[in-house]
Amino acid sequence: MAASVSCVQVAVFAPLRQLFDYLPPAAGLPPQPVGCRVKVPFGRGERIGVIVGTAPSAHADDRLKQVIELLDATALLEPSLVALARWAAAYYCHPVGEALGLLLPVELRHGEVLRRLTERGWLLADAGRAALMEGAVRVGPRQRELLQMAQAQALRAATLRALPFDAGRVVGDLQRRGWLLETELDAEAAPALPRTDFLALNEAQAASLADILARRDSFAPLLLQGVTGSGKTEVYLHAAREMLAGGRQVLMLIPEIGLSEQLVQRFRLRFGDTVAVLHSELTERERSLVWERARRGAVGIVLGTRSAVWAPLPRLGLIIVDEEHDPSFKQQEGFRYSARDVAVMRARDAQVPIVLGSATPSLESELNVRRGRYARMLLPSRAGGAAPPTLHGLDVRGLKLHGGLSETLCAAIDERLARDEQTLLFLNRRGYAPVLMCHACGHIAQCARCDARLVLHQGRERLICHHCGTEQRLDVLQKACCDAPEYFTLGVGTEQVEQALRERFPAARVLRIDRDTMRRKGELEAAYAAVRERRVDILIGTQMLAKGHDFPAVTLVGIVDADSRLFAADFRAGERFAQTLLQVAGRAGRANAPGVVLIQTHHPVHPLLQLALRHDYAAFADAALAEREAAMLPPYVSMAVVRAEAVDARAPIGFLQQLRRALDVGPDIDIAGPVPAPMERRAGKTRAVLMLTGLRRAALADALERLIAAANALPTRHRVRWHIDVDPQEAA
Ligand code: ADP
Ligand code: ZN
Repeated sequence: MAASVSCVQVAVFAPLRQLFDYLPPAAGLPPQPVGCRVKVPFGRGERIGVIVGTAPSAHADDRLKQVIELLDATALLEPSLVALARWAAAYYCHPVGEALGLLLPVELRHGEVLRRLTERGWLLADAGRAALMEGAVRVGPRQRELLQMAQAQALRAATLRALPFDAGRVVGDLQRRGWLLETELDAEAAPALPRTDFLALNEAQAASLADILARRDSFAPLLLQGVTGSGKTEVYLHAAREMLAGGRQVLMLIPEIGLSEQLVQRFRLRFGDTVAVLHSELTERERSLVWERARRGAVGIVLGTRSAVWAPLPRLGLIIVDEEHDPSFKQQEGFRYSARDVAVMRARDAQVPIVLGSATPSLESELNVRRGRYARMLLPSRAGGAAPPTLHGLDVRGLKLHGGLSETLCAAIDERLARDEQTLLFLNRRGYAPVLMCHACGHIAQCARCDARLVLHQGRERLICHHCGTEQRLDVLQKACCDAPEYFTLGVGTEQVEQALRERFPAARVLRIDRDTMRRKGELEAAYAAVRERRVDILIGTQMLAKGHDFPAVTLVGIVDADSRLFAADFRAGERFAQTLLQVAGRAGRANAPGVVLIQTHHPVHPLLQLALRHDYAAFADAALAEREAAMLPPYVSMAVVRAEAVDARAPIGFLQQLRRALDVGPDIDIAGPVPAPMERRAGKTRAVLMLTGLRRAALADALERLIAAANALPTRHRVRWHIDVDPQEAA
């Protein structure tokens, strides 16, 4: 009797941390089984999973169950993607089966066969081309029309149906004569658009492109640093062109908010329908179509948000991560991976260059450059020749503010209006006012489910919690308050600024851009178009305004309130402040009208603000990195947090205390807490955190492995919901 038999390791699509061994199916295995799906017996039922490895089994024959059915004859998932997802699952402490399941469109995860959506189409055959050229007398007028159409573009069944004659019959004739060839076309391929020319690169851009191309076919992380408008996207476009010309595919990741129609168009205009877009608003069907086409190599460029990092690309030649510092690359729930960091790992596995683009690199990437792990490529000035904006702190202490606006700022807006230039005001707070208080009894409108105040949304006559979404009507609040309520507000939100602007500048065209005004699809694009076409004089908006879009006619940027960011609890607040400030500032100005940025603050001498005012990100990064190093914070240490929450107010901290006591993290790991989360109650749950840091990544990984085992052995684990967040973007 043989001591061991060959078996397959399966990641079952379920939130399970282990892999499971099975005997191969009766019909045997394909030569390359990794990446093939299988149906397996599991508990009392059946599950779908994917083969991640084969191994001689240590178990006796009869203890292993057998695979019920092999669902794919060839690997559905490239083995390299399987390996990447396994790495990420381990690194981010996420159940491996769930991580692998996320690589697949939903229907494939459920075991359906891979469908390819095509439709019939017809291509012009050589004989047909010859007949057209000769002007053959045998070609009738309708036949000629169809041949000419086929010369420009493959004929689609849908196109034929739209013609005013029985085109199907004519096509049949042409096919019989060998002038048209029947083929299958991708049903959902976007129509090709006219190609526009590529701009000639300036010297710095050309040097960056040369750097990228020089690293072809090798792993090279390259930080492309340049302010908004410095021509980074143009470099991406040129690099992508070279890759496509060499038969390779390109993956480009963009933050959710940066994926605009404008950017997609810019790529489509250059590359036509070889560009596929993946983002969170696609339906499952659309997503699976893109997935299938990318896997088959039918698309050259995948442009997408976070989860596109998992797109199957058999001929991957280059990865680009635009706005690499953007926190939205880190998933904040479920599988808490950083798409940027996974992308770097993917580039390493695939031995291809990766370009990380930003005006304000993350401190992680900045340190990687300083340590020689990443190479920096600089685009020092704006491509269109626009001068950089000048930044000024505007001390508002003691000044009268109207809807958050000082008279100095209003005077500057007046000047712009007089010159027919645009103004952009930035305030990262929606609603009318963040605090509503009763003058008679002192009652403050508070969320019943969170440690947070309700934000007044005047237009909707509601108080809304920005953390859990709870809404309360104003008249309901009055009943909860006192006999003679008399309300006043503290603080300002975009809604109030908009109102103040309309009062102060009645003739000006004001547009507010935030999640309240831009709720429907297409509204944001329409708003941007209005700005570009100069149908707007003053723009007021939140973070939505800070990214991706250029407003060349804007010559004044006003930061309505810098202070909230200066005093936030999170250790990353300073970095985010500087990034947002420089990004918003980057919207302004053009060649003949340089931009001015006015920053309203009560703390004009705050060191962080002073650094940001120098408009020198390198100096800011120096100071911020020194501070992180002194405080032993990322990127100098590796960090993970364990969060627990429960309706029962004492359970989370109790669970984490027990966990800490049960855990031996070893000498290399510092452990802090548990402490209540900064917002202890959210959406009706009480929350607590435990923080682990270590100089060595490997020591932290070890500690986390032990932590998971310890947590799973604690009976109190059932009283809380808990998770681990590795490299958290929010410390708590
Ligand atoms: P970024 O991605 O850094 O914001 P873009 O690539 O979008 O920069 O370029 C900003 C503007 O400058 C765009 O309008 C673009 O068409 C223009 N531009 C970029 N590169 C060049 C170039 N080499 N010559 C002329 N204009 C350029
Ligand atoms: Zn709430």
